[in-house]
Amino acid sequence: MMRILNNIPIRRKLTLIIMLISTVALLMASAAFIISDRLHTEKNLGNNLLIMADMIAANSTAALLFRDSPAAIETMGFLDSQDNIQAGVIYDINHSPFASYHKKGITIELPEPAGQTQNIMFWDDYVEVFADIDYEGEQIGIIYLRSDMQAINDRLALFFGIVVIVLLASLLVAFALNERMQYIITAPLLRLSAIARQISIERNYSLRATGNSRDELGTLTKDFNAMLDEIEMRDKKLKQNQGELEERVVKRTRELEVTNKKLASAKQQAESVAMRMQHQAQHDGLTGLPNRALLNDRIQIELSHARREETTLAVLFLDLDRFKIINDSLGHATGDQLLCVVARRLRKCLREGDTVARLGGDEFMVLLPRINAVADADQIGNKIIDELARPVSCNGHKLHITTSIGISIYPYDGSDANTLVKNADISMYRAKELGRNKTVYFTSEMNAGSRKQLVLETSLRNALEKNEFKLRYQPKIDINSNRIVGVEALLRWDSPGIGFISPREFIPLAEENGLIIPIGEWVLRQSLAQLKEWHMAGHDDITIAINLSAAQISKPGFEDVLKDALLESGTNPACTELEITEHAAMKNIETATITLNKLKKMGVGIAMDDFGTGYSSLSYLRRLPIDTVKLDRSFVHEIPDNNGDVLIAQAIIAMTESLNMELVVEGVDNERQLEFFKQQGCRLVQGFLFSKPVGADKILAMLQAQAITGSVQPARQ
Ligand code: C2E
Ligand code: MG
Ligand code: MG
Repeated sequence: MMRILNNIPIRRKLTLIIMLISTVALLMASAAFIISDRLHTEKNLGNNLLIMADMIAANSTAALLFRDSPAAIETMGFLDSQDNIQAGVIYDINHSPFASYHKKGITIELPEPAGQTQNIMFWDDYVEVFADIDYEGEQIGIIYLRSDMQAINDRLALFFGIVVIVLLASLLVAFALNERMQYIITAPLLRLSAIARQISIERNYSLRATGNSRDELGTLTKDFNAMLDEIEMRDKKLKQNQGELEERVVKRTRELEVTNKKLASAKQQAESVAMRMQHQAQHDGLTGLPNRALLNDRIQIELSHARREETTLAVLFLDLDRFKIINDSLGHATGDQLLCVVARRLRKCLREGDTVARLGGDEFMVLLPRINAVADADQIGNKIIDELARPVSCNGHKLHITTSIGISIYPYDGSDANTLVKNADISMYRAKELGRNKTVYFTSEMNAGSRKQLVLETSLRNALEKNEFKLRYQPKIDINSNRIVGVEALLRWDSPGIGFISPREFIPLAEENGLIIPIGEWVLRQSLAQLKEWHMAGHDDITIAINLSAAQISKPGFEDVLKDALLESGTNPACTELEITEHAAMKNIETATITLNKLKKMGVGIAMDDFGTGYSSLSYLRRLPIDTVKLDRSFVHEIPDNNGDVLIAQAIIAMTESLNMELVVEGVDNERQLEFFKQQGCRLVQGFLFSKPVGADKILAMLQAQAITGSVQPARQ
C-alpha cells in the first residue's frame, strides 16, 4: 500500500487525503445527525403512543367499569386512522384481554402485561407501550399499544439518501476544488524539480528557483537556491582546479614527452654504441669483414654442425701475392683501397652461409660449411683466383693482383678450428712456394714443412741473443700545450733472414712459445734505461709507457722483475706506465686484477691499451686499478666522418671522465681528428700527426727543440 502511495504524484496524494478527510468528516457529521434525529423521532413516537394510550385509557374507563367490551373496542376504533399502529389491547385488572384492536392483515401474539407499568419499549422493528387505566386513583386495567417503526425507518432511509447525495456532491466539489487548489503546493515543487532537472542536464549552476512565499515551500525554495549558490561556487572552484590540473597535466605530458624522446635517443645512442662496439670487436675496421675472433666462432659452430650431421667443411687461407710491394710503392691508402676491393670480390664469390674474414694485412680466410665434395673447395678457390685476377683501378693505377690459397678440409685435415686454420695456412705457404696464384690442398707431409712458422720461430729464438730487437718511441702529446709529456716504447724486429716483421705478427708467436717473457724483460730494462738517459739530459718530466703481454702479467714474480728493473735503472716508478691490452686483461681477469694491483702499489701507472676492442664489461673495468685508458685507433681512424665512431669515442670519453681516468687517444694522424678530440676536451694524443715511432736520439732532439721553442708542432698535411 505504502509502495503504491509512494509511486503516485503529490497532487494525487493531496486529492486522496482531502477526499478521505472530507468523506470522514461528512460521514461523522451525517452519523451524528442521523443518530440525533433517530433518537428524537423515537422519543416523539413514544410520546405519541403514550398520549394515544392515555386517551384510550380515559375513554375506556366506563367500558371497563361496566364490562362493556364493544364500547371499549369502539373507543379504539380511531386507531384505524393511525398508519403506524399495529395493535392495541385493553386488559382488565386481572390482566385478561378485555378488548383488542388489530390493524387489518396484522396478527400479533398478545403480550403478558403482568408486572408492566407505564413503559415504552423499543424493539428492532416495532415499539410498544403499556399504560395504566385508573379510575378515581385506583387501577382498573392496562392499555397496550404497539406501533411499527416504518415511519422512523423511512425517515432513516431518506436521510441516508440525502447523506449519500450530499457526500457525493461534497466529494465532487472537494475534488474539483482540490484539482484547482493543489497547484498552490505542487506548482513550486514542480518548479523546483524542473529546475533541478535542467541543472542536471545543462550543468548550468547559475539557474535559480523562483518563488518568495513565506511558507515551508518558500523556505524550501530559499534553501534550494542557497544549495545552488554553494554548488555554483564549488563548481567554479572545481572548474578552476580542473583547468589548473589540465594545464599541469599538459605541461607534465610535454615534459615527459621531451624526457621520453631524450631517453629514447639516449637509449638508441647507447644501443648503437653497444652494437657498434660489438661490431668493431668482431669485424675488420678497414673492410668490414668478420675478423679472426668472429671467424673462429663461426668455425666452431659449423664444426659442431658438421660433426652432428657428418658433413664436410673447408677452410681456405688466402694471402695476396706481393701485396707488400704495392703497399710500399704506392702507399698505404692505395693498399687499403685494394684490400677493400678484394673483400668485395671475395664476398661476391661466396654463397649465403659461407664466411669470408680478414685476418689482418693481406690475409683472408674463407669458411665453406657443408660442401658436397672435397673438390668443391678447389672449385671455389679457383673462382676466387679468377675473380681477383681481374685488374683493379686504384688511385689512377691499374693493379694486377694474384692470390695463393691453402685449403684444409674437415674431417680429413683436422677436427678442431686451430688445426684446420694452421693447416690451411701451411698449404697456403706451399701454394706460394709452388709459384703463387694457385690453390693447394693440405697434405699430412706438409706439416713438417710449415716453413714460415718454423723459420719465424727459430729466428725469434735467436733474435734476442743476436741483438736483432730495437725499440722505437712514439711521443705522447699534451694538445693543450703541444708538448711531449711522455713516450710509448714499441718493439721492432728486423730479421736479417726474414726482413721486418710487425710486432702484431711476432708478439703472438712469442706469447705462444713463451719467448715473450725474456723479450718483455729486455723491453722493460731497455726502456727504463733509456728513460733514465733522457731524465739525466734534463727532461725529467718525461714518462714512458711500456707494453706488457698477457703472458707477462700471468707469470708469477713479474713484480720482482719490475722492481729489479726500476732499481737497476734508478728511475722514478711514477714516470712509468705499463700498458696492457683489454684482450690481455680479460683473458684472465682474476690474475690480472691481483698482479696489476701489486704493480700499482709499487707506484707505476696502469693503462688499458686498445680500449674498445675487447668489448669488456664496465664492471670488470672498474675492478682493475686503471689510471689511463687508450682509445683504440680503429675508432679514431674515421672520425669525424663516421657517426658511429663519433658516438663510441664520446661514450668512452664520458666514461673515463666519470671514472676519473686519464684518456690517451691513439692513432691521431690528421688535423680533423685532432680538432675533434680538442673539442671533446681530450688532453693526450698519440699518432703519426705528431710523430711516428722513432729512435731514442730523435726523441732527444725533439725534447731539446721543445725546451727551446716551448712546444712541438703537428706535421702539416
Ligand atoms: P699499441 O700498443 O696499441 O701501439 C700502437 C700502435 O699503433 C703501434 O704499432 C704504432 O706504430 C701504431 N700507431 C701509432 N700511431 C699511429 C697512427 O697515427 N696511425 C697508424 N696507422 N698507426 C699508428 P706497432 O708499433 O706496430 O705495434 C703494434 C702493437 O704491438 C702495439 O699496439 C702493441 O700491442 C704491440 N707491441 C708493440 N711493442 C710491444 C712490446 O714491447 N711488448 C708487447 N707486449 N707488445 C708490443
Ligand atoms: Mg700500447
Ligand atoms: Mg694501442
